Amino acid sequence: MKIVLTVIAVSLVFLTIACQTSEENITPATNTNSNSTNTTTTVKPSSQEIYDTFVRLTLKNSTGTSAMTIRKWLPTKTQIKIYWDGGRTTALLSALDKIMADMNVLNRYNKMIRTEVITEADIVINRVEVATHNSKYTSFQVSNSSVQGLTFTQWSSDAITKAVVWLSPTTLSILQNGVLRHELIHALGIGHTENTKSIMIPVLSSNNYDFNSFSILDQRMIQILSDNRVKQGNTEANISSVIKEYAAK
Ligand SMILES: [Zn+2]
Repeated sequence: MKIVLTVIAVSLVFLTIACQTSEENITPATNTNSNSTNTTTTVKPSSQEIYDTFVRLTLKNSTGTSAMTIRKWLPTKTQIKIYWDGGRTTALLSALDKIMADMNVLNRYNKMIRTEVITEADIVINRVEVATHNSKYTSFQVSNSSVQGLTFTQWSSDAITKAVVWLSPTTLSILQNGVLRHELIHALGIGHTENTKSIMIPVLSSNNYDFNSFSILDQRMIQILSDNRVKQGNTEANISSVIKEYAAK
């Protein structure tokens, strides 16, 4: 099922991002917090905030109303290979390299690397018009071309096995880095939150997030999910002690 989250934002710049995770049965949700102006990415989140946001991002459906289980790449998968297909630019590849480096500091198991061989890619990025994208990836179709980015994930009973990131070719340049960073977090198995200390809000604004790095809150999210005690299929009850351990740091 498709998840589409749309909002009218008061921010100077804004965009909508939709995500598809095929197991969810979702109705559209609206984020009303996007006009917040007091959020910075360096604000230290509280322990409760870390706990609640992780649960929201990984253990709840899009509307936050029903429980899900953890999805993630296998810790034994030492490399996640990323191939940039259509619409690549030098600037975007440079942005991707920075995002991968930031991720690799936080995730000690799955190191993101770039590949130039599409057939060995675990994550494919495609920044082209919807029609071109859909004709190439018939199983990963974009139906709402007003969104800025979409990430499609596939998983087995054990782990995520593949992700395809679609990026709009018309996204404002000042937002491209943020959209890419947001979508690559989706590719890890992370959903959306209403907490504007996270880049995983459905509506991004360059006003309240530094797109060149991860917020402290998002750093914790990636660290917790990549911990090898957290396994695909886990419930909140299974891993609450692990989440609390990171939240207390
Ligand atoms: Zn998203």
